Amino acid sequence: MTSAHHPNHVPLPVLTQPRGIDHIVAGVSTSDGDGVKLTRVLHQPLQQRLDPFLMLDAFGSDNPGDYIGGFPNHPHRGFETVTYMIAGRMRHRDSAGHEGLLQNGGVQWMTAGRGLVHSELPEQEEGRMEGFQLWLNLPAKDKMREPWYRDIQSSEIPEYGTQSGVHVRVIAGTSNGVAGAMQREHTEPLYVDITLPPGTEFSQELPADHNALIYVFRESVFIGNSEVPTKRMAILANAPDSDGVLLRAPRTNHSPARVLLMAGKPLHEPIAQYGPFVMNTREQVVQAVHDFQNGKLR
Ligand code: FE
Repeated sequence: MTSAHHPNHVPLPVLTQPRGIDHIVAGVSTSDGDGVKLTRVLHQPLQQRLDPFLMLDAFGSDNPGDYIGGFPNHPHRGFETVTYMIAGRMRHRDSAGHEGLLQNGGVQWMTAGRGLVHSELPEQEEGRMEGFQLWLNLPAKDKMREPWYRDIQSSEIPEYGTQSGVHVRVIAGTSNGVAGAMQREHTEPLYVDITLPPGTEFSQELPADHNALIYVFRESVFIGNSEVPTKRMAILANAPDSDGVLLRAPRTNHSPARVLLMAGKPLHEPIAQYGPFVMNTREQVVQAVHDFQNGKLR
């Protein structure tokens, strides 16, 4: 750990027009893969609103029965999946012969592009499994690009602290001058994991035309006068004169709050989804299903 990689006193911007909350979303309990229990926080009806983000799943359980089945072989086409593991170990294998282990604090960034078939299976039989999977859209021109992926170990994720003891992990984009592990040109995603001790604040500038959300997974935070409780997503309002986001952890929290902050530049392109295929038109989705059935996703 070098001080360059982990600066400790990064100053926070003073905002004049921080964003308010548009609305708070509880998410829907569901299961996916081979019976993995999860909460779908961002689901299909919110895709236009949160463009370029297509889906956000939160999973977390100490009970192996909730996760042991994992996600056996399944296809993807037309977008990127970003899996962030808070606790646990998951083995990834795909039809092109790639394999990787995703574990405690690490991220797998996969660009499905024209498509592949992969599996995501727990490599543990007991203990806690907790994390998130985000689906990030690709612009129309990149939906049929070659698949690509990167396993980002926890130690490769840039981190910083603030004077008041807030700790930030920068997975993608740039947060208060600290560049994250991944950059993406068209959607310009920001993805940060923020830990706020009781009574502390965090601020960050955001482009006014980017869609933004927070997901609270420990304790609670305030945005303005509204408290966002644990296991809730707050969609941030898009006022044209807003300059960023300001989070405050109440003094009454018993332990540090922990929050994912995501923002991205909307693509403003049509979204056509059928399960794991996200294209621009119905015809392209039908083609994706056809290609999968004919073994062309590999
Ligand atoms: Fe998958």
